[in-house]
Amino acid sequence: MKAATAVIYRSALTHNYKTIKSMSPKSHLMAVVKANGYGHGALEVASTLTHADYLGVARIDEAIALREAGVEAKILLLEGFVSEECVPSLLKYNLETVIHCHEQVMMLEKFNSATSIKIWLKLDTGMHRLGIRLDEADAIFERICNISWIEKPINVMTHFACSDELNNPFTNDQIDRFDGFIQHKVVGQTSLAASGGILFWPQSHRHLNRAGIILYGISPVLQKPASDFGLSPVMQLESRLIAIRRHSQGESVGYNATWVSPRDTVIGVVAIGYGDGYSRSIKNGTPVLINGREVPLVGRVSMDMITIDLGPDALDKVGDKVVLWGQDLPIERIAHLNNLSPYELMTQLTSRVNLVYA
Ligand code: PLP
Repeated sequence: MKAATAVIYRSALTHNYKTIKSMSPKSHLMAVVKANGYGHGALEVASTLTHADYLGVARIDEAIALREAGVEAKILLLEGFVSEECVPSLLKYNLETVIHCHEQVMMLEKFNSATSIKIWLKLDTGMHRLGIRLDEADAIFERICNISWIEKPINVMTHFACSDELNNPFTNDQIDRFDGFIQHKVVGQTSLAASGGILFWPQSHRHLNRAGIILYGISPVLQKPASDFGLSPVMQLESRLIAIRRHSQGESVGYNATWVSPRDTVIGVVAIGYGDGYSRSIKNGTPVLINGREVPLVGRVSMDMITIDLGPDALDKVGDKVVLWGQDLPIERIAHLNNLSPYELMTQLTSRVNLVYA
């Protein structure tokens, strides 16, 4: 039996999907399930959101795994394909793909097919990571238009670099560049907004919005928790007390003795550590929940354990449940306190953590 468990609330997932959809009722909504559904289980998320307009994955193997498990929803590869051998798989598995570089266009030009596929031309409007530079985009658009087996009109998308910075004009500049490109063209569908765009930049809502982190009930802006938008955390991460120890004032705990107790107290040892993906960067003082109260983590996070200060009058017992984050302890708070990203906290959980669906 695994000690650490992530309980995934399917009802929160369906509630979040519906709530996000209502923020832009005319747009289609993608459930982004890359990186194993941000640690929640891609297949389970897909099979819970059977009515999702779209699923989004990064890699082709993520898409193929979903198809082979029987998922029939529309799937878009957000990173696109990486080699010529992938092109037949797009057809075989009925996948849509982002096209973000001219090497991919060359691979499509070399191929031919009786059936067509739908592609999304990704423009670099400011992220400068993936995407066709705007000074090359007209020529690339033209070339794709000339590939007979690519569905027309061509869909166009982009991705924001700073949509979680609410006072930064960068996002509006990206929207303007995007609109400037499509202005005098016949294009298919368009897509700009991921979580930040959906929550904070309504002018970016177009045919398709792409919800990642907010689908899981987490805000991309830590000071504005997802609950402010009616969203619920989907995951509760929990483990158990495996030891309770009397601890004297002045004694330290754990590796490098980073915490010394200011008073006599009771220390609880919890079966979760960085080997489970609970980051070693999580510091002294970070709250956990036990028997309805918050107590602080003390000392270093070890590979298999953390230590918590239960207080001098603790009545907790070995075997009691400890919650690391969830509905009553938002992950945004844990991330903010430790200067960490909730994206990273979620996706770095390891296979030692038991995913349980409620
Ligand atoms: N769309 C694209 C192209 C992405 O790369 C990502 C994530 O990195 C998303 C959507 C989802 O982002 P978020 O989790 O911020 O909604």
